[in-house]
Amino acid sequence: MAKFIADLHIHSKYSRATSKDMDLEELDRWADDKGISVMATGDFTHPQWLAELKEKLEPAEPGLFKLKQEYKRPTIKGNLADTRFFLSAEVSSIYSRQSPSTGEKRVYRVHNLIFAPDFETVEKINVQLGWIGNLKSDGRPILGLDCRELAKIVFNANPLAAIIPAHAWTPWFSIFGSMSGFDSIEECFGEYSKNIFALETGLSSDPAMNWRLSKLDNVALISNSDSHSAPRIGREANIFDTELSYNGIIEAIKSGSPNQRKSALNQRKSAFVATIEFFPEEGRYHFDGHRACGVVFSPEETKKHNGICPKCGKKLIIGVMNRVEKLADRPEIKFEQEKFYNTYDGRVPYYSLIPLDEIIAEVYGMGVAAKKVKEEYVKLIKAFGSELKILIDLSAEELKTVADEKVVKGIMAVREKKLKIEPGFDGEYGKVKIFSEEEKEDLKSQKRLF
Ligand SMILES: [Zn+2]
Ligand SMILES: [Zn+2]
Ligand SMILES: [Zn+2]
Repeated sequence: MAKFIADLHIHSKYSRATSKDMDLEELDRWADDKGISVMATGDFTHPQWLAELKEKLEPAEPGLFKLKQEYKRPTIKGNLADTRFFLSAEVSSIYSRQSPSTGEKRVYRVHNLIFAPDFETVEKINVQLGWIGNLKSDGRPILGLDCRELAKIVFNANPLAAIIPAHAWTPWFSIFGSMSGFDSIEECFGEYSKNIFALETGLSSDPAMNWRLSKLDNVALISNSDSHSAPRIGREANIFDTELSYNGIIEAIKSGSPNQRKSALNQRKSAFVATIEFFPEEGRYHFDGHRACGVVFSPEETKKHNGICPKCGKKLIIGVMNRVEKLADRPEIKFEQEKFYNTYDGRVPYYSLIPLDEIIAEVYGMGVAAKKVKEEYVKLIKAFGSELKILIDLSAEELKTVADEKVVKGIMAVREKKLKIEPGFDGEYGKVKIFSEEEKEDLKSQKRLF
């Protein structure tokens, strides 16, 4: 048994709009600097990527793999990483079927993650998916495949494989999406819904929003980066305390559902320690609006305008917050006191974080690509070992021994949730400000005093 962090959803360089650095060599070393022990391979449906996985990985613990020594590159700290890889893929299902609620035929667009314990299972799944559509054109293939059919293929290939609906609330491509989705797991997966033991919350929703739906009490909530470039892995992730193996991870996820954790004993024994989350407002679909019209509305404002954009007169793009509001049967969750982590009624706790380079950039009033920002980042990783350790574990006193005092203030402000956030909407990322303009002036004058 060991405590470790896992990021189970990323995309390789063979997916659209991804960085060239999304290869095994870079993922292996970046995971170490981030503090991630288990990294998704992503994209196992893609023939070229799968060939790379088979060539460059070798078996480690049951169901996990590691990069062969000859492919290792040094981390920022200069060591060689010991990252484990976990076979994963994402499929975009676009299909029409009768709506279970209205009976009308309509189009659904749902993204699902697939996890597999071995390459034989991957091969079986790929053969069947390859009959339905082209797996070569995109690392995340688009298939005209009903989610129930996808489930049939995956569980027939191996009952130990898993399907997890991805970024469950985003409007255009998810199981509960306002533009494309269903109202329940049962509607989407039919007889296979009993096999769906977890959902991915996605960047625009956090666990507390999902806890408002009693119909989700049977599923666990996982969080992953869905990253398209190596430096952004781990921006959302899962902390487990379990055996390092495929089954260890799957069982740990299952143990995280509210119903599984009902007894205090189960909570103490739980192998699902916590998740690491974005502030959901930072996600691209938190609020409603129109990007082109510059209109951004809270769910209440949208209601006032009957869902219509006052600028162009068309329907607003309904975001995650509004959609949760619609399907929820519990009131908004108010935490008793603001802690660094959030939990409620025995549920898996979560940390709300901002990536370290973004904190440093905000503190210095520069972009994340600025030289000074990168230098501070590298200095901290070299001194403390990993980004997630810096963001979660170390005290202000420990951080101060190396970090710029202003950066320490920034990290502490995130932990205390002293932030100003403009929510994201219609594809536009939200903006998080750690310091107000006034506080920034204060920081500058403090510097002048020194
Ligand atoms: Zn997706
Ligand atoms: Zn994805
Ligand atoms: Zn508009």
